[in-house]
Amino acid sequence: MKSFDNISLKAYNTFGIDVKARRMVVVEPGDSVEQLATLRSLDGGTEPELILGGGSNMVFTKDYDGTVVTLSRESACPVRQSTLVTAWGGMVMDDLVRWTLDNGLYGMENLSAIPGTVGASAVQNVGAYGAEAKDFVESVEAYDLKDGHLCTFSNADCCFAYRYSMFKDVPGRYLILRVTFRLKKEYAPNLSYKALEGLPHATAGELRQAITELRWGKLPRPEEHGSAGSFFKNPVVDEEVYARLRQQYADMPDAHPSAGGYKLSAGWLIDRAGWKGRTQGGAGVWPKNALVLYNAGACTGEEVRSLANAIQQDVKQKFGVVLEPEAIII
Ligand SMILES: Cc1cc2nc3c(=O)[nH]c(=O)nc-3n(C[C@H](O)[C@H](O)[C@H](O)COP(=O)(O)OP(=O)(O)OC[C@H]3O[C@@H](n4cnc5c(N)ncnc54)[C@H](O)[C@@H]3O)c2cc1C
Repeated sequence: MKSFDNISLKAYNTFGIDVKARRMVVVEPGDSVEQLATLRSLDGGTEPELILGGGSNMVFTKDYDGTVVTLSRESACPVRQSTLVTAWGGMVMDDLVRWTLDNGLYGMENLSAIPGTVGASAVQNVGAYGAEAKDFVESVEAYDLKDGHLCTFSNADCCFAYRYSMFKDVPGRYLILRVTFRLKKEYAPNLSYKALEGLPHATAGELRQAITELRWGKLPRPEEHGSAGSFFKNPVVDEEVYARLRQQYADMPDAHPSAGGYKLSAGWLIDRAGWKGRTQGGAGVWPKNALVLYNAGACTGEEVRSLANAIQQDVKQKFGVVLEPEAIII
């Protein structure tokens, strides 16, 4: 375990927002339970703590006056037992996806190139191109920072839903150390996403490549422009609201009834409200994808928040639909 005081978080969040943390503790794969227990007693247990992965879904609006706990990125090699693979929570998720394919294990190729770490993939139930982490998570091993012991959660315990797990309800309590994924030895491409339909003969590697290219065609590359990916969740509305909007906007993409209602495209609503390509202060709406807010030039977290608020208000006023941020605003 290593500790750093008064550290800049600019390199630790993909928006590239320049704030500081009072302290950062980096947990290593070999740290003992006794060492982990020291995290509970920082400043007599009164120190605010934030668990940070790759910072790819976070917007810092001010300096963090407490301790940021993060897992070392030094990738301990995943451990395989037949079709089960256990990976260190600090491993870059995309490195794990590549590792699984290199080792003849399939399923997660549709999650290629999602930024962030293995631990956060379970917290967020990351998803893309017709797949979600929940389809593969077998179990999650965590350290309970409140009660001070190691615990294991099954897939069912995690209560996964769209960009949700129960870990989101208790932020800062469970430090996820390892995640075990169940994969397949036989490759069966998941082409449920429309843009992938034409790839029935692609190998897993070719599908991964195609998905990576599709992704970076419409998202800002983190090394060029900071962002947190999709900033808002796709809102779910009831049948009455859907029917009203359907009648009013012939160009609105079809939504199919899913659990709880009709899931609309937040990107379409923001685009239709006229925000695509606009900037406000140092923050902007990505010209190729209205769902993405980005760092248009040394933006502050407050500028991102203020742009997000303006979009939420406008979409509410124009369509009567409430947009909820997917990004976590600190
Ligand atoms: C360009 C871009 C594209 C993206 N595309 C997608 C996409 O297609 N699909 C998608 O779902 N997401 C996408 N995202 C969002 C992001 O990649 C995911 O939310 C990712 O899981 C965040 O990982 P992270 O390690 O950066 O977590 P962070 O942003 O650091 O943290 C996210 C949450 O997880 C918690 N957390 C992190 N690590 C741990 C841990 N070890 N133990 C306990 N809690 C932890 C944090 O406290 C926080 O609540 C995108 C982001 C970017 C920048």
